[in-house]
Amino acid sequence: MHTSTTTLQSRPAKRKSIKWEAECIEIIQETPDVRTFRFEKPEDWTFVPGQYLMVFFPEVFGKKNRAYSIASSPNSDYIDLTIKLYGLFTHHMWTLTEGSTWTLRGPYGHFILNTERKNDVLLLGAGVGVTPLMSMIRWATEVKSDRRFLLLYSNKKPKDIIFHNELQAIERMNPNVKIVYTLTRLEDRLKQSWPGLTGRINGEMVKSQVMEWQNNDGETPTSLTCGPIVMIETVEKVLTELGWPKEEIQYEKFW
Ligand SMILES: Cc1cc2nc3c(=O)[nH]c(=O)nc-3n(C[C@H](O)[C@H](O)[C@H](O)COP(=O)(O)OP(=O)(O)OC[C@H]3O[C@@H](n4cnc5c(N)ncnc54)[C@H](O)[C@@H]3O)c2cc1C
Repeated sequence: MHTSTTTLQSRPAKRKSIKWEAECIEIIQETPDVRTFRFEKPEDWTFVPGQYLMVFFPEVFGKKNRAYSIASSPNSDYIDLTIKLYGLFTHHMWTLTEGSTWTLRGPYGHFILNTERKNDVLLLGAGVGVTPLMSMIRWATEVKSDRRFLLLYSNKKPKDIIFHNELQAIERMNPNVKIVYTLTRLEDRLKQSWPGLTGRINGEMVKSQVMEWQNNDGETPTSLTCGPIVMIETVEKVLTELGWPKEEIQYEKFW
């Protein structure tokens, strides 16, 4: 099984994990290689933004499973799993249609937005690593939270930006959310018109974006990073240099 890691800044109130058979009610093609698989949320069951589910297909893979962050908000009637096509499990998922049955178990995980707190939130995501962060942003926008969020979001090309339209709408609707996009494989012909940043999320980028956004009068923000290990280490180093306490630097590792 895959593992995930985070500092234990704030454990969620104990949520009861259950295992159930869920019907996939909708499949949404988000980008060329990412799909959202939608399920109805069971009654009397919830999760905290950032948590994940384990997915099983016992008839195909026996006891093997994979973890998927919930991209929808806990307020939604649906559970959305937004998944990138990659290897064994995901190739099987790509053969499934609406109406298929999935075995789900959860929620799990300590990489969460503590919804009781009032401090600002720095989110850093690469590619499909945006999924737990999306749940947090959706939740904060729905409840009209006055916490400020900065999302620094890296992708290869414009067509790979998962949730791009929705994120742009959220930014227009919620003045507390700022999103900075960076692209690592932007074609030369698009460079003139691309309004965001280019290149991988690196130390200089994190530092300058954080310093521009951070409100120095308030409590230290919490940072939540989901992406490759190099990015996680970079963020930890820069934020530590900027004086952020360790407990405000959280991360999730997908691979
Ligand atoms: C807590 C947690 C939450 C997760 N949430 C999501 C999510 O929301 N969406 C999502 O798509 N995935 C998510 N994952 C990853 C997911 O669990 C699987 O690892 C992924 O879907 C690949 O499974 P597979 O069977 O298709 O590939 P496998 O056959 O397992 O892939 C083979 C190898 O490729 C590596 N690998 C898989 N995907 C990538 C990648 N994109 N880049 C680099 N290496 C990779 C794996 O480590 C493995 O060694 C999450 C993982 C964890 C631990």
